Amino acid sequence: MPDRMIPKISVPGGMLATTARWMDALRGQRGCFFTFHRAAPSSLWPSLPNRDFYIDLGFLDTLLGHLAASGRRVVTVEEGLALAADPASRETFVNFSIDDCYRDTFEEVVPLFRRHGVPITLFVTTGIPDGTLPLWWIGLEDTIFTRDFVLVDGERHETDTTERKIATYLSLQARWDGPGAPDHYARFAADNGVDTEAVHWKHAITWDMLSQLATDPLVEIGSHTVSHPRVSTLSDEEASRELAGSRSRLREKLGLPVKHFAFPYGRRKDCGPRDFEIARQAGYGSVATTTKGLLKSGPTPYAYPRITLNGAHQNLVVPELHLAGASAVAARMLGRV
Ligand SMILES: [Zn+2]
Repeated sequence: MPDRMIPKISVPGGMLATTARWMDALRGQRGCFFTFHRAAPSSLWPSLPNRDFYIDLGFLDTLLGHLAASGRRVVTVEEGLALAADPASRETFVNFSIDDCYRDTFEEVVPLFRRHGVPITLFVTTGIPDGTLPLWWIGLEDTIFTRDFVLVDGERHETDTTERKIATYLSLQARWDGPGAPDHYARFAADNGVDTEAVHWKHAITWDMLSQLATDPLVEIGSHTVSHPRVSTLSDEEASRELAGSRSRLREKLGLPVKHFAFPYGRRKDCGPRDFEIARQAGYGSVATTTKGLLKSGPTPYAYPRITLNGAHQNLVVPELHLAGASAVAARMLGRV
């Protein structure tokens, strides 16, 4: 997860919105699905070791206000897919979804969406509230964030400044990423005296929180597997267990018919036609990916694109470029190609 200094660009929001609406009409684009993982207050965001993983809450507040002012309707996945399929509708819409779901979903993000009176979709990885998924990326970040040094395989890494915290996090995250990550984390926790259970519940969303959210008419709950694997790498049976298992667990704990699913990672190499078929068999009505793009009018695709918002998004220019279907321009502006 690269992290870069973000260029601050000032462009009048009204002009952007007008341009975007004109481009929407020209291209027949109807819907934009944004997704993100965690959110942090603006004061905390710059010092987070894995800050790319967090959207700045102040920015999210500004974006929601801007969408309302520019006449974009924020909808659930269910509503968005129905609007896109309705030939009589000309309405442009935006959906926001959170993948995985952590404690800040409950404490920060849903309250913000409630204040704006707009819905949000939560794609829950059920191993998080069940406590069965080792949150190694969270534990690694939490330890680095709270300590002046960490021990890794007998080496001491200084983490006494923000720059050193970020550099250490990124290098270990890249080194651990893959099926061996939980083992790396277990060794790291033992070497550094980390209570992994305590760290888990400091950051995880709980079933109690989800039960409260499930009764909120502004919250739509979907599924994001049991253990957050790259589904394309699994056997048919394993993939089926992940997709059907998380759906039945959500239904059991929350009493909901879970209709929508989002693939972990979600790029073309992470999920494909076989996995979409397994999702259909598990009973899902739609699947979200993270291939970039907007939903157009006409027959609704079973697998739809989503655009990831992250720490690099600090002003309205880049979301507006995405909304206008110019994601490649937005990526270049952020130095991501
Ligand atoms: Zn995820």
